[in-house]
Amino acid sequence: MKVPFVTKDQLEAIAAQYPTPFHLYDERGIRENARRLRAAFAWNPGYREYFAVKATPTPAILKLLKEEGCGCDCSSLAELIMAERCGITGEDIMFSSNETPPEEFQLADKLGAIMNLDDFTLIEDLERATGKIPEKVCCRYNPGGVFALGETREGFQVMDNPGDAKYGMTRAQISEAYRVLAAKGAREFGLHSFLASNTLSNEYYPVLARMLFQLAVELKEETGCRVTFINLSGGVGVPYHPDQPENDIAVIGEGVRKAYEEILVPAGLGDVALYTELGRFMLAPYGHLVTRAMHEKHIYKEYIGVDACACDLMRPAMYGSYHHITVMGKEHAPCDHKYDVVGSLCENNDKFAVDRMLPKIDRGDLLVIHDTGAHGRAMGYNYNGKLRSAELLLREDGSVDLIRRAETLEDYFATLVW
Ligand SMILES: *Cc1c(COP(=O)(O)O)cnc(C)c1O
Repeated sequence: MKVPFVTKDQLEAIAAQYPTPFHLYDERGIRENARRLRAAFAWNPGYREYFAVKATPTPAILKLLKEEGCGCDCSSLAELIMAERCGITGEDIMFSSNETPPEEFQLADKLGAIMNLDDFTLIEDLERATGKIPEKVCCRYNPGGVFALGETREGFQVMDNPGDAKYGMTRAQISEAYRVLAAKGAREFGLHSFLASNTLSNEYYPVLARMLFQLAVELKEETGCRVTFINLSGGVGVPYHPDQPENDIAVIGEGVRKAYEEILVPAGLGDVALYTELGRFMLAPYGHLVTRAMHEKHIYKEYIGVDACACDLMRPAMYGSYHHITVMGKEHAPCDHKYDVVGSLCENNDKFAVDRMLPKIDRGDLLVIHDTGAHGRAMGYNYNGKLRSAELLLREDGSVDLIRRAETLEDYFATLVW
């Protein structure tokens, strides 16, 4: 069962000050999770989490994670500027872009970020844009084919299709990239790969690590380049559905340690630092989209219209994703009504839930849509002239801070030419 991190009374008090819909984040949950992650990799002295900014690009969140020792993984000009303005610069930034324009390389270089090159041709682009090749540089690897873990402990399969993904370099390109970068002055090399998204398996990181560790050993032999860090990127998932298993980050950290000791240590690479770039795992469970039931409609199906829409949370419309819903104050009522919970867009996929069994919903009920802390507000858009909602942070002491105001009509009209 998924339990909201706020009570109905707390939410009503918050909603009296900040009208629904809004995104609410839980400081305590975010901090505790970040500490669990850090503890899981504490055996690796160079370990660092670079939070994937795209998941929740909000300064208060970046600063909070910075206090927990995290850097930023940026992939655009705006994300670089946001990191800098949060006091996150230098090697605390990983710049993992693709199809990168020169001005992005220039700013990343000015900030001293670690460059993670997505493609062989970016070596030349980087050099042209910044006038140099940095001493420390990372290359993104794509092994091609299909990545599958087979049956995991709970019978959930992890499968993804790197051969069809636009990211990374081939095996041959990685060797060549290392040689070319070394000839141009690079001295410290990193490896990065992202093979599967939202994995619910304690095996994903260990299997990925094993592959990258072996590759590091091969590259050292082939090219003589010194691999000093390996970036396991994102992809550790969260259970959106209450029946799904939760990842155990301590078990994941131990699995990676085993691979490290078996492969890197004997090859004389026992000083390689490990990095992660988690987004979803860091934030998703610690965010709620809070919305109010506005209408009920009885036609061929039963509909509940809420004041949030896909512009506040796109995942259900875009991927058909499940997001659990709690009707506040009715947590223990029987789920004996079948509803589609819908937003107001002129788009029939604007549905937060389809044929969902829920307690009877009345107008005015507050609904918590769970696990919206990552790739939620961040993917918001303005279709139908909808304004994106505010973001609030529930502090550990129970107070609430506005960390991004809701958009206004002035914001919406600001870019128009009449
Ligand atoms: C999106 C992204 C991440 C974060 O992915 P999650 O699935 O949210 O953990 C990390 N690294 C890169 C390069 C990404 O594009």
